[in-house]
Amino acid sequence: MTKYIIANWKMRMTKAGAKTFVQGLAALRDLPKEASTILCPPFPLIESCLGHPSFDVGAQTSGAFLQGPYTGEVSASLLKEMGCKYVIVGHSERRVHYGETNGVVKQKAQKVLQEGMTPILCIGEPLEIYKSGQANTYLQQQLQESLPEEGPLLIAYEPVWAIGTGETPSLETIEKTHYFLTSLLKTQTPIIYGGSVTGDNAKDILGLPSVSGVLVGGASLSLETFLPIIRSV
Ligand code: PEP
Repeated sequence: MTKYIIANWKMRMTKAGAKTFVQGLAALRDLPKEASTILCPPFPLIESCLGHPSFDVGAQTSGAFLQGPYTGEVSASLLKEMGCKYVIVGHSERRVHYGETNGVVKQKAQKVLQEGMTPILCIGEPLEIYKSGQANTYLQQQLQESLPEEGPLLIAYEPVWAIGTGETPSLETIEKTHYFLTSLLKTQTPIIYGGSVTGDNAKDILGLPSVSGVLVGGASLSLETFLPIIRSV
Protein backbone atom coordinates (compact mmCIF):
# COMPACT_ATOMS: atom_id res chain seq x y z
CA MET A 1 0.00 0.00 0.00
CA THR A 2 1.33 3.43 -1.00
CA LYS A 3 2.31 5.71 1.87
CA TYR A 4 2.60 9.40 1.03
CA ILE A 5 5.55 11.18 2.61
CA ILE A 6 5.00 14.88 2.12
CA ALA A 7 7.52 17.59 2.94
CA ASN A 8 6.06 21.01 3.75
CA TRP A 9 9.02 23.39 3.78
CA LYS A 10 6.78 26.35 4.66
CA MET A 11 8.74 29.67 4.49
CA ARG A 12 11.88 28.05 5.81
CA MET A 13 14.00 26.87 2.88
CA THR A 14 16.78 28.64 0.99
CA LYS A 15 17.81 28.25 -2.66
CA ALA A 16 21.10 26.61 -1.64
CA GLY A 17 19.37 24.37 0.90
CA ALA A 18 16.84 23.18 -1.66
CA LYS A 19 19.61 22.39 -4.15
CA THR A 20 21.52 20.26 -1.65
CA PHE A 21 18.33 18.51 -0.53
CA VAL A 22 17.08 17.76 -4.05
CA GLN A 23 20.45 16.56 -5.35
CA GLY A 24 20.85 14.29 -2.32
CA LEU A 25 17.35 12.83 -2.55
CA ALA A 26 17.49 12.36 -6.31
CA ALA A 27 20.76 10.44 -6.03
CA LEU A 28 19.30 7.76 -3.75
CA ARG A 29 18.39 4.48 -5.39
CA ASP A 30 17.27 2.47 -2.38
CA LEU A 31 14.13 4.27 -1.21
CA PRO A 32 11.14 2.07 -0.27
CA LYS A 33 8.98 1.42 -3.36
CA GLU A 34 5.78 1.95 -1.36
CA ALA A 35 6.83 5.49 -0.42
CA SER A 36 5.38 8.24 -2.60
CA THR A 37 7.48 11.28 -1.74
CA ILE A 38 6.20 14.78 -2.46
CA LEU A 39 8.16 18.00 -1.86
CA CYS A 40 6.16 21.19 -1.26
CA PRO A 41 8.62 24.08 -1.54
CA PRO A 42 7.91 27.83 -1.47
CA PHE A 43 6.79 29.00 -4.96
CA PRO A 44 10.17 30.37 -6.17
CA LEU A 45 11.86 27.02 -5.46
CA ILE A 46 9.33 24.83 -7.27
CA GLU A 47 11.24 24.83 -10.54
CA SER A 48 14.47 23.67 -8.89
CA CYS A 49 12.71 20.64 -7.36
CA LEU A 50 11.17 19.35 -10.61
CA GLY A 51 12.39 16.70 -12.99
CA HIS A 52 13.26 13.81 -10.70
CA PRO A 53 11.48 10.50 -11.15
CA SER A 54 11.75 9.45 -7.50
CA PHE A 55 9.63 12.29 -6.10
CA ASP A 56 6.81 14.64 -7.06
CA VAL A 57 6.37 18.33 -6.39
CA GLY A 58 3.45 20.18 -4.85
CA ALA A 59 2.69 23.75 -3.84
CA GLN A 60 1.85 24.94 -0.34
CA THR A 61 -1.27 26.84 -1.44
CA SER A 62 -2.84 28.32 -4.56
CA GLY A 63 -5.28 31.05 -5.46
CA ALA A 64 -9.03 30.66 -5.30
CA PHE A 65 -9.30 32.01 -8.87
CA LEU A 66 -7.60 30.89 -12.08
CA GLN A 67 -6.57 34.36 -13.25
CA GLY A 68 -7.26 38.03 -12.73
CA PRO A 69 -6.35 41.07 -10.66
CA TYR A 70 -5.21 39.21 -7.53
CA THR A 71 -1.81 40.68 -6.70
CA GLY A 72 0.51 38.22 -5.00
CA GLU A 73 -1.63 35.16 -5.70
CA VAL A 74 -0.49 32.12 -7.69
CA SER A 75 -3.13 30.25 -9.68
CA ALA A 76 -3.63 26.51 -9.87
CA SER A 77 -3.31 26.78 -13.65
CA LEU A 78 0.20 28.25 -13.39
CA LEU A 79 1.22 25.61 -10.84
CA LYS A 80 -0.01 22.93 -13.22
CA GLU A 81 1.87 24.51 -16.11
CA MET A 82 5.04 24.52 -14.01
CA GLY A 83 4.77 20.80 -13.27
CA CYS A 84 3.17 20.54 -9.83
CA LYS A 85 1.06 17.46 -9.22
CA TYR A 86 -0.27 18.36 -5.78
CA VAL A 87 -1.34 21.48 -3.89
CA ILE A 88 -1.81 21.75 -0.12
CA VAL A 89 -5.05 23.59 0.63
CA GLY A 90 -6.40 24.69 4.00
CA HIS A 91 -3.24 24.29 6.04
CA SER A 92 -4.02 25.61 9.53
CA GLU A 93 -1.36 28.32 9.13
CA ARG A 94 -3.28 29.64 6.11
CA ARG A 95 -6.55 29.44 8.03
CA VAL A 96 -5.13 31.21 11.10
CA HIS A 97 -2.83 33.84 9.56
CA TYR A 98 -4.69 34.58 6.32
CA GLY A 99 -8.27 34.01 7.41
CA GLU A 100 -8.97 31.20 4.93
CA THR A 101 -12.45 29.88 5.62
CA ASN A 102 -13.75 26.42 4.78
CA GLY A 103 -15.54 28.00 1.83
CA VAL A 104 -12.33 29.47 0.43
CA VAL A 105 -10.50 26.19 1.01
CA LYS A 106 -13.19 24.35 -0.95
CA GLN A 107 -12.96 26.87 -3.78
CA LYS A 108 -9.17 26.38 -3.93
CA ALA A 109 -9.48 22.59 -3.87
CA GLN A 110 -11.97 22.72 -6.76
CA LYS A 111 -9.59 24.84 -8.85
CA VAL A 112 -6.74 22.42 -8.13
CA LEU A 113 -8.90 19.53 -9.30
CA GLN A 114 -10.11 21.45 -12.32
CA GLU A 115 -6.46 21.80 -13.39
CA GLY A 116 -5.89 18.06 -13.02
CA MET A 117 -3.81 18.17 -9.84
CA THR A 118 -4.52 16.55 -6.48
CA PRO A 119 -5.44 18.72 -3.51
CA ILE A 120 -3.99 17.79 -0.12
CA LEU A 121 -6.86 19.06 2.00
CA CYS A 122 -5.81 19.85 5.59
CA ILE A 123 -8.21 19.73 8.49
CA GLY A 124 -7.53 19.66 12.21
CA GLU A 125 -8.90 20.81 15.54
CA PRO A 126 -7.36 23.55 17.72
CA LEU A 127 -6.27 22.76 21.27
CA GLU A 128 -9.36 24.10 23.06
CA ILE A 129 -11.63 21.95 20.89
CA TYR A 130 -9.44 18.91 21.50
CA LYS A 131 -9.54 19.53 25.25
CA SER A 132 -13.30 19.95 25.23
CA GLY A 133 -13.76 16.53 23.61
CA GLN A 134 -15.47 18.07 20.56
CA ALA A 135 -12.81 17.22 18.00
CA ASN A 136 -14.95 14.90 15.88
CA THR A 137 -17.82 17.38 15.63
CA TYR A 138 -15.36 20.10 14.64
CA LEU A 139 -13.63 17.90 12.04
CA GLN A 140 -16.94 16.78 10.59
CA GLN A 141 -17.99 20.37 10.00
CA GLN A 142 -14.59 21.32 8.55
CA LEU A 143 -14.77 18.39 6.18
CA GLN A 144 -18.38 18.99 5.14
CA GLU A 145 -17.70 22.63 4.35
CA SER A 146 -14.31 22.33 2.66
CA LEU A 147 -14.54 19.05 0.77
CA PRO A 148 -14.74 19.57 -3.01
CA GLU A 149 -17.70 18.02 -4.86
CA GLU A 150 -15.53 15.30 -6.38
CA GLY A 151 -12.07 13.88 -5.89
CA PRO A 152 -9.52 12.48 -6.18
CA LEU A 153 -7.78 14.09 -3.22
CA LEU A 154 -5.73 13.39 -0.13
CA ILE A 155 -6.93 14.45 3.30
CA ALA A 156 -4.36 15.47 5.89
CA TYR A 157 -5.53 15.23 9.49
CA GLU A 158 -3.34 17.73 11.32
CA PRO A 159 -4.37 18.59 14.88
CA VAL A 160 -3.40 22.27 15.17
CA TRP A 161 -1.94 21.71 18.63
CA ALA A 162 0.43 19.05 17.26
CA ILE A 163 1.97 21.21 14.52
CA GLY A 164 5.51 22.25 15.39
CA THR A 165 5.04 21.50 19.09
CA GLY A 166 6.68 18.11 19.51
CA GLU A 167 3.35 16.76 20.77
CA THR A 168 1.28 14.16 18.95
CA PRO A 169 -2.04 12.48 19.71
CA SER A 170 -1.77 8.88 20.92
CA LEU A 171 -1.62 6.23 18.22
CA GLU A 172 -5.08 5.13 19.34
CA THR A 173 -6.47 8.64 18.85
CA ILE A 174 -4.91 8.95 15.39
CA GLU A 175 -6.35 5.59 14.39
CA LYS A 176 -9.83 6.36 15.76
CA THR A 177 -9.91 9.80 14.16
CA HIS A 178 -8.84 8.45 10.78
CA TYR A 179 -11.55 5.78 10.93
CA PHE A 180 -14.07 8.44 11.89
CA LEU A 181 -13.05 10.58 8.92
CA THR A 182 -13.20 7.57 6.61
CA SER A 183 -16.77 6.92 7.78
CA LEU A 184 -17.74 10.43 6.63
CA LEU A 185 -16.38 10.02 3.11
CA LYS A 186 -18.36 8.59 0.22
CA THR A 187 -15.31 7.51 -1.76
CA GLN A 188 -12.10 5.78 -0.75
CA THR A 189 -9.70 8.61 0.12
CA PRO A 190 -6.19 8.34 1.56
CA ILE A 191 -5.98 10.06 4.95
CA ILE A 192 -2.56 11.14 6.04
CA TYR A 193 -1.45 12.36 9.45
CA GLY A 194 0.52 15.56 10.16
CA GLY A 195 1.88 17.11 13.34
CA SER A 196 5.36 16.68 14.84
CA VAL A 197 6.25 13.60 12.80
CA THR A 198 9.94 12.69 13.14
CA GLY A 199 12.19 9.74 12.44
CA ASP A 200 11.43 8.57 15.99
CA ASN A 201 7.64 8.26 15.69
CA ALA A 202 7.17 7.78 11.92
CA LYS A 203 7.33 3.98 11.95
CA ASP A 204 4.59 3.65 14.56
CA ILE A 205 2.34 6.22 12.90
CA LEU A 206 2.85 4.86 9.38
CA GLY A 207 2.23 1.36 10.71
CA LEU A 208 -1.39 2.24 11.61
CA PRO A 209 -3.74 0.64 9.06
CA SER A 210 -5.81 3.82 8.67
CA VAL A 211 -2.80 6.05 8.01
CA SER A 212 -1.88 6.47 4.33
CA GLY A 213 1.08 8.74 4.90
CA VAL A 214 2.48 11.70 6.79
CA LEU A 215 2.75 15.44 6.21
CA VAL A 216 6.00 16.68 7.68
CA GLY A 217 7.03 20.24 8.50
CA GLY A 218 10.11 20.75 10.69
CA ALA A 219 11.65 17.34 10.08
CA SER A 220 11.42 17.77 6.29
CA LEU A 221 13.97 20.58 6.17
CA SER A 222 17.06 18.42 5.95
CA LEU A 223 17.73 15.01 4.47
CA GLU A 224 19.20 13.88 7.80
CA THR A 225 15.81 14.23 9.44
CA PHE A 226 13.56 13.51 6.43
CA LEU A 227 15.18 10.33 5.12
CA PRO A 228 14.54 8.29 8.27
CA ILE A 229 10.84 9.10 7.80
CA ILE A 230 10.84 7.88 4.18
CA ARG A 231 12.73 4.79 5.28
CA SER A 232 10.08 4.08 7.92
CA VAL A 233 7.61 3.07 5.20
C1 PEP B 1 2.95 20.94 9.02
O1 PEP B 1 3.51 21.98 8.72
O2 PEP B 1 1.95 20.60 8.40
C2 PEP B 1 3.50 20.14 10.11
C3 PEP B 1 2.92 19.00 10.36
O3 PEP B 1 4.59 20.64 10.77
P1 PEP B 1 5.49 19.85 11.84
O4 PEP B 1 5.84 18.53 11.24
O5 PEP B 1 6.66 20.73 12.06
O6 PEP B 1 4.65 19.67 13.08
